[in-house]
Formats: sequence, C-alpha cells, structure tokens
Amino acid sequence: MADATFESLHEDDDGPPAVPLATPPVFVWPPQPAGLVKFLFGYPGYIWPLNILYMGMAIATWFWLTPDLATMKTFQWDWIAVIWGRNLGLTFLVFGGLHFRFYIAKAQGRRFMMNRREPTRNHRRFLFGNQVRENMFWTAGSAVAIWSAYEVVTLWAFANGYIPMLSWEAHPVWFVVLFLAIPMIRDAHFYFVHRLLHHPMFYKRFHALHHKNVDIGPWSGMSMHPVEHVLYFSGILLHWVMLSHPLHAIFHVQQTGLSPALGHVGFHRAKGKGGGEFPIGKRYYHYLHHRFFECNYGGDGTVPLDKWFGTFHDGTPESHEIMRGRRKQAHGTEAGAA
Ligand SMILES: [Zn+2]
Ligand SMILES: [Zn+2]
Repeated sequence: MADATFESLHEDDDGPPAVPLATPPVFVWPPQPAGLVKFLFGYPGYIWPLNILYMGMAIATWFWLTPDLATMKTFQWDWIAVIWGRNLGLTFLVFGGLHFRFYIAKAQGRRFMMNRREPTRNHRRFLFGNQVRENMFWTAGSAVAIWSAYEVVTLWAFANGYIPMLSWEAHPVWFVVLFLAIPMIRDAHFYFVHRLLHHPMFYKRFHALHHKNVDIGPWSGMSMHPVEHVLYFSGILLHWVMLSHPLHAIFHVQQTGLSPALGHVGFHRAKGKGGGEFPIGKRYYHYLHHRFFECNYGGDGTVPLDKWFGTFHDGTPESHEIMRGRRKQAHGTEAGAA
C-alpha cells in the first residue's frame, strides 16, 4: 500500500475521527486517578456502553443458553449442538444485524464511514467472487466451529472438575474484578497473536486472508484462516490455569467471537434515530491497521502495547512519518506487507 493514501484518507468524509487517538489512562505513569475513574465509569467509557452489553449477553448466555454442568460431564452431541447453534445464532444476529444496518439499509449513508469503498465488492480474488460471501463463509464455518470447540472442551473440563472453579459466594470481589478485566486481557493477548501473524513466516500463509479486507465491514472481523482462528481464540486457555468460573470463560470466548463485528464496522460514529450521534468505540484504531498494516496490532489499545513496542499509529501525519521510517528500516522499502 502506497503511503500517499494517508493524505487522501477521509477526503470526502464530513466527520473524520478525532486524532490523535488517545491512550486510555489505565496503564500509564504517573497514574491519572481522575482520568481512570472517568474512563472506567464514564460514558462512553470502558464499561458503558459496549462492554456492559457484552457482559449482559454473556450472563444471559450462561443462565439461559448453556446446558447444566452435570449434563456437560460427558461429550454428547445434543448439548454440543446447543452450544454451536447458539453461537451461530448470535453470530448472525450481531454480524448480520450490523451489516444490515450499515450496508443494506444504509441507515446513515456514508456519514462517518471510514472506508473509501463499501466492503461489499465483487472481485475474483474473493471466494465465490464476493467479499461479503467469502467473509461469511470463514465466519459461520471456521470461526463458529473453532470458538464452539474451545468452549465445549472448557465447559466439559469445568463440569468434571479438571479446571478449578471460582465460587461467587466465596470470592465475590475477585469474581467481579476478573470479569471486568477480561476485555483488557483479550486486548493484550490479541496484540501478541497478531504480531506473530505478521511475521513473514505466517503472514502470507495465514493472516493475508484477513487482510484481503482493506475496506472493512462487520463480516470482515472474523474472516480469518482456520489457523488464525485457533490462535485467536486460544485466550480462553487462560481459564485452564487461572481460577475462574465458567461464566468468565463464556464471556471471554463470546466477546472474542462477537466483538470483531463492531471492531470492523467501517464507521467511527453511529447516528441515532433522533439525529443524535455517538462514537462507537475506538474503531479508527484497527481501521488504520487495515490501511497501513504495520501499526496498531492491539485490538483497541486499552493495554497500550503498541505504544510500548513502538507500533502505535495515532492517526496524525507525524505518527505516519514515524511508521514509514520504521517500515523503511525493516524492509529497505516503503512498501507495506500487502
Ligand atoms: Zn482486522
Ligand atoms: Zn493484521
């Protein structure tokens, strides 16, 4: 990808994202207690509105859409089908719902769209000759199967006591703290897996598939090679070694499976019915990764690993120059990994 495209970003966009992208005041020195409280509990913030939605969905899933632990002691196709079926259903609800709103109903037209083109291209480089169809294929096929497999084996291990279970009654504070920390744990895990996938040994073979999406839409999110799915969902293995509850594991793996829909929505603000506007998380962060490849490997930078490892692109021309310099040093060229 030629760097000249940076200047042409959002040339026809009437509401570009605010830059520089800020680093959340969680892992910063010196500490910023007031900023931290505002980030954690303010609106829009860490908990409200997005994580509370994912948390609520996980709680509902655990209480109403997950078989009893006693049932899950032995592998049986009936309960495994329930897990797979609800994951597939949630996938169509979230990915399909967002795709419908933004790209079929076109609820806000191109307003606040970051893409140059709509992520719905017909081109022979895509499976079935169409970007959305290829993305749906990898998501509904490979992603949901691998997500469900991790979840089934983990729930089976909890049911049999192979994994120690954290009790809500005995440790309510740790229970809540761990629950709140899971999105950050995911962000850090994603950074390392993602950097590994950009290593020349893995990029072309596995991760290039995800990067066929330069203009991104919800279905781009989980459009990955099955090997990438195995690595991407591996964060759930944490619950095999750290004291937690099946609810934590469900929240962890479900958010891993569903949040890329909004993460790749291609818009940085949503327009409400009454004409109100609201930001939809830090969508520009990962969008810049899809445009320029060698920056912003983290999910949203809540754990600022990109900053610590010098791979942060904050959306400004200065930041872009720094990335170009890094790229030149690494490749002896200005060309990106694409
Ligand atoms: Zn992506
Ligand atoms: Zn990548």
